[in-house]
Amino acid sequence: MTPLQKINHPLFDQYQIKVWIKRDDLNHPEIQGNKWHKLKLNLVEALKQNKSTLITFGGAYSNHIAATAVAGKNAGLTTLSFIRGDELENNPTAWSSTLTTAHKLGMQFKFLSREDYRQKNSLKFQNQLELDYPNAYILPEGGNNILAVKGFRSLADDINYQHKSWSHLYLPVGTGGTLAGLVKYLNPKLNQKIIGIPTAKSYQYLTKNINHYLTPQSYQDWYFQTPKISLRYGKITPKIQEIIEEFKQHFNIPLDPIYTARMMLEFILSVKNNELPQGSKIILLHTGGLQGHQT
Ligand SMILES: *Cc1c(COP(=O)(O)O)cnc(C)c1O
Repeated sequence: MTPLQKINHPLFDQYQIKVWIKRDDLNHPEIQGNKWHKLKLNLVEALKQNKSTLITFGGAYSNHIAATAVAGKNAGLTTLSFIRGDELENNPTAWSSTLTTAHKLGMQFKFLSREDYRQKNSLKFQNQLELDYPNAYILPEGGNNILAVKGFRSLADDINYQHKSWSHLYLPVGTGGTLAGLVKYLNPKLNQKIIGIPTAKSYQYLTKNINHYLTPQSYQDWYFQTPKISLRYGKITPKIQEIIEEFKQHFNIPLDPIYTARMMLEFILSVKNNELPQGSKIILLHTGGLQGHQT
């Protein structure tokens, strides 16, 4: 079980709230955080089906691609990823460290133009994929499927075991798979809310994808907090760098710039804006994401 770490700061005393960080970045030695939960039950299923290869999809900076490369290697499965951006095809010097590292672990790549990449979920593309790779287990972009969502049950059980009476749980949102899993298995009580911090400018469309995994009774258990600082996905500003530095110095907790630092920034702004009632017991979920960002 990963630690639930209390963090203390004069700001939290001033507003009379209590804050913990669930250190789920420490849940696996190589694959950090939420991407491991998404993969673990899918790996079991791939092996059960006697598949020899994992196939997946992503952009050059995808943490899911990085996680799949490691998980495949550890499980003895070959890995192949369809990567968005055919300009990278014959230009490995332009590859991100995510791609370079995955390639070193044995992952093969097929680069698609942005237009072709958009067709990846079409019936035609998927049927062709199954014909071309009969021994492959196919994971969707971002790693979301029913088994991925189920993978968050253990994390939800941990949280409810470690802190029964939390009032708010914050997490960063990319595709929403992690949020869906937590809402489904945390089973929040009336006075508990799960709050997703979006990391892309457009995010309202995710609500449908998230609720797809839930029952209508739990649609009210969560909401998106409108970002106070609206940023393009992946943009790293001085404010983001500042909060990474502060968390390192005050709490000795590393944050990634794409997801967890943004969540912390938005959370701190909410506190300063007096949006959290006195007595709130807040859990901030550290979803990992550091593998591509360590120097
Ligand atoms: C991928 C990722 C997310 C977003 O998860 P979704 O399930 O896509 O919403 C959040 N944090 C980190 C560190 C990630 O790598």
